[in-house]
Amino acid sequence: MFQSPKGMHDILPSEWPTLEKIYKAAKEVAEFYNFSRVETPILESIDLFVRGVGEATDIVEKEIFVLKTKGGDKLALRPELTAPVIRSYLQHGLHRLPQPLKLFYFGPLFRHEKPQAGRYRQFNQLGFEIIGGEGDPLYDAQSIIVAYRFLEEVRIKNLTVQVNSIGCRVCRPNYRRRLIDYYKKQKVCRDCTRRLEKNPLRLLDCKNTNCAQIKLGAPSILDSLCTTCKRHFKEVLEFLDEVNIPYSLNPHLVRGLDYYNRTVFEIFTEGNDLALASGGRYDYLAEMLGGRSTPASGVAAGIERIVETVRNEPVFQNQRIKPKVFLIHVGEVTKKKGLSLIEEFRKEDMPIFEVLGKDSLSAQLERAAKMKSPIALIFGQKEAYEESIIVRDMETGVQESVPLSKVIEEVRRRLK
Ligand code: AMP
Repeated sequence: MFQSPKGMHDILPSEWPTLEKIYKAAKEVAEFYNFSRVETPILESIDLFVRGVGEATDIVEKEIFVLKTKGGDKLALRPELTAPVIRSYLQHGLHRLPQPLKLFYFGPLFRHEKPQAGRYRQFNQLGFEIIGGEGDPLYDAQSIIVAYRFLEEVRIKNLTVQVNSIGCRVCRPNYRRRLIDYYKKQKVCRDCTRRLEKNPLRLLDCKNTNCAQIKLGAPSILDSLCTTCKRHFKEVLEFLDEVNIPYSLNPHLVRGLDYYNRTVFEIFTEGNDLALASGGRYDYLAEMLGGRSTPASGVAAGIERIVETVRNEPVFQNQRIKPKVFLIHVGEVTKKKGLSLIEEFRKEDMPIFEVLGKDSLSAQLERAAKMKSPIALIFGQKEAYEESIIVRDMETGVQESVPLSKVIEEVRRRLK
């Protein structure tokens, strides 16, 4: 028997009502805060991620799925969506629209990670990006606010935001030197020995237990920020205070992608050490991709982690089926006529259940009861001949025959 690939899952019918509620909340929040939807291809040039996310990041070094096309091009299954969205922004000259441009997206991503709860090889993100404009700290705060409000909207409780600033081109080199000085004196894991050479900030991201201990003594970047970055960060925090978003400073939060500068953040719910949403400012990404300098900030939330968090909430469990009439047929002629009666109902935008493939009356009645249909329409040979149909109240069992031409009217009256 075939199985889905490791770390990749089917989304079964039972899971869709929850997912649809999540997507509905996402759309409502996006609409309220004026984000417009964008969708980019699943495949992108691998260079987009090498240049945008960074060659020495886990995503590009270890996790990216690459395929070769018949023409010999190397394409990547997108491991993140910010670089593709900026690619699209630059490609289509979206800077000509009023700025900042607020975009949101849903879609699958692929990372070759070790699968475990909350970490998959194919997963879905909902993201919000605020691109162009002034690089105002207000937009950093808004990236946090929109994600926070969305998570509240899907009934996730006890949310906290961890926030940090990783500075800019001016002040980060100083911090990098301080970090290297500190780490050179420590005994770190093999990966970190490499990070020390290639991408020292990533030392703070290591999950190894010994390295996590070492991190506790590492210098804080907040002490190395230049005056402009300090002021920018202070204002972000003031905006968060203004709208009562609870946050805590985490001076060791750096995030695994190269394009971030200044504000970075992660949003957690109590009792789970995997972030539900993460993001930050990325003012250099457009330039790194060959475009003009474009300040930007954004956030992405992991849909699977959200589903796992809300699955047991009563509001997501009680998936009430809307009452629908149930069409029952007896005999071949009525099966055919039944099929066209369904089309009549569709024209009137009236939902209807059926199992026309089953011929037994009792089996169909049983299904109508199971689907909790308040009314069954029983279409027998005699009725087909007389151009009528039986309307049965499923609760009382009382039946009455009505002309076929009046059935929609009758059902509408009863379902009111
Ligand atoms: P990132 O793109 O790494 O900043 O991640 C943004 C969000 O996507 C995280 O906060 C998680 O909720 C989610 N996420 C990241 N990696 C995975 C994964 N492998 N499986 C499931 N969700 C993930």
